[in-house]
Amino acid sequence: MIALVTGASRGIGLAIAQKLAADGMTVAINYRTGAEAAEQLAAKLGNGARAFHADVSTQGKELVEAVIAHYGQLDVLINNAGVTNDGLFLDQPQADWWKAMEVNLGGAETCSRAAVPGMMRRRWGRIVNMSSIAATRGGKGQTGYAASKGAIEAFTRTLAREVGRKGVLVNAVAPGVIDTDMTAQSREIAGDKMKELISLQRFGRPEEVAHVVGFLASDAASYVTGQVLTVDGGWMT
Ligand code: NAP
Repeated sequence: MIALVTGASRGIGLAIAQKLAADGMTVAINYRTGAEAAEQLAAKLGNGARAFHADVSTQGKELVEAVIAHYGQLDVLINNAGVTNDGLFLDQPQADWWKAMEVNLGGAETCSRAAVPGMMRRRWGRIVNMSSIAATRGGKGQTGYAASKGAIEAFTRTLAREVGRKGVLVNAVAPGVIDTDMTAQSREIAGDKMKELISLQRFGRPEEVAHVVGFLASDAASYVTGQVLTVDGGWMT
């Protein structure tokens, strides 16, 4: 089984790559700037794992084509790469606002477009898109990020309807606050207040998201499609 994880050089993507490898998959590790970390991870995972450079906002198609050229097929696509690019709506230059859309939604769209035909031909495929609780309740300064995650959830549900009959399952995972670089600043500034809103009273670990993604990427999820699974320690309940 060949899996591609976008944005796997660190954070949640790295944990997903480790989980899929532990489940026996051969993992293509995409990175944008973290070449060294991605190469190290590939060496650690073994079993044919390899690092692939691409900016998914502009090179998603080329990325998937390179993975298929190398391995011969792609069975599991995890659209994880993401950026926040926060800024107050009226203060933020329009190009900065669209950046989250281009990476978070555009990356998933182009990678999926390139991956789906092969999955449909083989009548088996798994796509897992990374959403966020921001899709439901974005914070101040997150109009672009929240819009991209809301869109990814709609994209997930709708693509699932189109490709289900061909054996391709499409789901999303919506994490709450996870301990990665992405949330370092907000956890430092407002960590204690944020924890009070979380039933489990703590932030999540990347592995805790990766386990859910691993399930959705597996045969065990054979009757689950078009869903968004929230992994937030009980923030949104
Ligand atoms: P992170 O620690 O900031 O890591 C982001 C990853 O995405 C890095 O591997 C980075 O690659 C890659 N990336 C960014 N832009 C890219 C691009 N244009 N092309 C290819 N790769 C790109 O983020 P994270 O916390 O692990 O988040 C991963 C996903 O979970 C994102 O979609 C995020 O929106 C979502 N999420 C995170 C949280 C959270 O609390 N952390 C909550 C909800 C949702 P390089 O380092 O190589 O540049």
